[in-house]
Amino acid sequence: MGIATINPATGETVKTFEALTPNEINEKLAIAQSCFGQYRKSAIAQRSEWLHNAANILERNSTEYGEIMTLEMGKPIKGAIAEAKKCAWVCRYYADNAADFLADVPAESDGSQAFIRYQPLGAVLAVMPWNFPFWQVFRFAAPNLMAGNVGLLKHASNVPQCALKIEEIIRDAGFPEGAFQTLLIGSEAVEQVINDACVKAATLTGSEPAGASLASAAGKQIKKTLLELGGSDPFVVLKSADLDEAVAAGTTARMLNNGQSCIAAKRFIVVESIADEFERKMTERFKSLKIGDPTLEETDLGPLATAGILQDLDKQVQKSIEMGAKAIIGGQPLKDRPGNFYPPTILTNIPSGSPAEKEEFFGPVALLFRVKNIDDAIALANDTPFGLGASGWTQNEQERDRLINELEAGAVFINGLVKSDPRIPFGGIKRSGYGRELGIQGIHEFVNVKTVWVK
Ligand code: NAP
Repeated sequence: MGIATINPATGETVKTFEALTPNEINEKLAIAQSCFGQYRKSAIAQRSEWLHNAANILERNSTEYGEIMTLEMGKPIKGAIAEAKKCAWVCRYYADNAADFLADVPAESDGSQAFIRYQPLGAVLAVMPWNFPFWQVFRFAAPNLMAGNVGLLKHASNVPQCALKIEEIIRDAGFPEGAFQTLLIGSEAVEQVINDACVKAATLTGSEPAGASLASAAGKQIKKTLLELGGSDPFVVLKSADLDEAVAAGTTARMLNNGQSCIAAKRFIVVESIADEFERKMTERFKSLKIGDPTLEETDLGPLATAGILQDLDKQVQKSIEMGAKAIIGGQPLKDRPGNFYPPTILTNIPSGSPAEKEEFFGPVALLFRVKNIDDAIALANDTPFGLGASGWTQNEQERDRLINELEAGAVFINGLVKSDPRIPFGGIKRSGYGRELGIQGIHEFVNVKTVWVK
C-alpha cells in the first residue's frame, strides 16, 4: 500500500503522496542533526512557551484537525475533535511540568557533591499508528521536545495529511526548523533512519511484528527503544459490581474509536451469577448505537480505518464462529453500503483454540466469557500473551486488592474504563511492549540520566 488518504467511509482515494527517496531522507536527517546542536541549548522556559503555543493552535483549530482525522481514518467527528483538544492538554502538561521533571536530583556519595542531571539524547524516531493519529504523536512529541530532543515522525501510511499537519502545528508554534519533522516513508525505509548516526533512539506504537522489526534494527545499532503494542484487555465484572455502570463503561470501552483502540476492553469476563443480565443489558446498549457517516455529530460508530482491517476482523469472527462461538448480535460486515462498516458484535461460547480466545480483535466485537468466581476470572484475564490494561468491577475491598495485585497488566483501573491521561504513565508488559509514555516516566525514557560526581 502506498502513502495515501483513502476515505474509509466511501472507499474513495482522496489524495496520494510520493514517499521520500533515500537521498531526501538523508537531507532531513542532516537537518535534524544540525537543529539538535542548537536546540539542546535552548532554555526550558523557551521550549515551554513554544509548546504552550502549540496547545493554543490545537485548541483553536480542533474542528479542522478533527475533520482531517475523520477523513483519513474514519473516527466519529466528536471523538476526533476531542482528540485534538486532548493533544493541547498533553502539551500544556509537559510545558508546565517539564522543568520540575528534569531538575537535577541530588544523590549521596563519597564526593563533595553528587547529583543526577537529565540531558537530551538527540533525534528520536517515532513510528506511529493511525488509530489516534494526533494523540499518539503529541504524547511522544510534547515530552521529547521539552527534554531537548528533536523528533522524527514516520506516521502510518494511511494518515499522511495528519502527519503533515502535525509538523505544521509544531513549526507554527515557533519551534526551530528541524525540531520536529515528518518523514513520508513506508515501513521499508525505517531501518535506514534507525541506522543513521543522528538517530539515538526509537519508539513504535503498533502491531507486534512492526515492534519486533523496529526493535531488532535498533538492537543491532545499540539504540534504545520503547514499544507500545497490541492488547486484549480484560474487563472483569464481579458479583458486587454496579452492573449498569459496568455495562455503560464496558460499551464505551469496547466501541470508542470504532473499536480500534489498544486499550479497548476486548474480553468481558463476567461471573456466572450476573452474566445473563450483563449480556442482556450490553446487547441492548450495542443495539442502540448509531452506525454511519463519521462526519455527523450523532454518529457513535463509523467505518473501520482500512479495508484490510475489516477483512482481518471478519476472518477472526468467522473462524471463531466456525469453531463454535455464537454471535448474539452482529457477526458480519455491513454489506448494504460502501466503506468498511462492521456492526457492534457480541460473541459468547468462545471455544478454546479459537481466534476469539487469544487474539486481539481490533474492531467493535466484544468477547464474552462466563466464569465461576474471582479465581477463574483472574486466571482467564491473565491467560493472554498481552498485558496492556485491565479493568475490574467490584464493590468488595478484598476483591479489589486481589485484582490490583494479581492482574498482569501495565495498568489496572477499578470501577472505570482504562484510559490514557497525561498525568499518569501508560504502557504494557508481556507482548504489549515495554517502556512508559506520559507522566514523569514518559519524559525520562529518552534522556541521558547523567551521574555527576564532584570533589
Ligand atoms: P502497524 O501495522 O504495526 O502500524 C503501525 C506503524 O508501524 C505504522 O506507521 C506502520 O507503517 C509501521 N510499520 C509497520 N510495519 C513495520 C515494520 N516492519 N517496520 C517498521 N515500521 C512498521 O499497526 P496497525 O495494525 O496499523 O495498528 C494497530 C496496532 O497498534 C494494534 O495492535 C494496536 O493495539 C496497536 N496500538 C497500540 C497502542 C499502545 O499504546 N500500546 C496504541 C495504539 C495502537 P505503515 O502504515 O507504512 O505500514
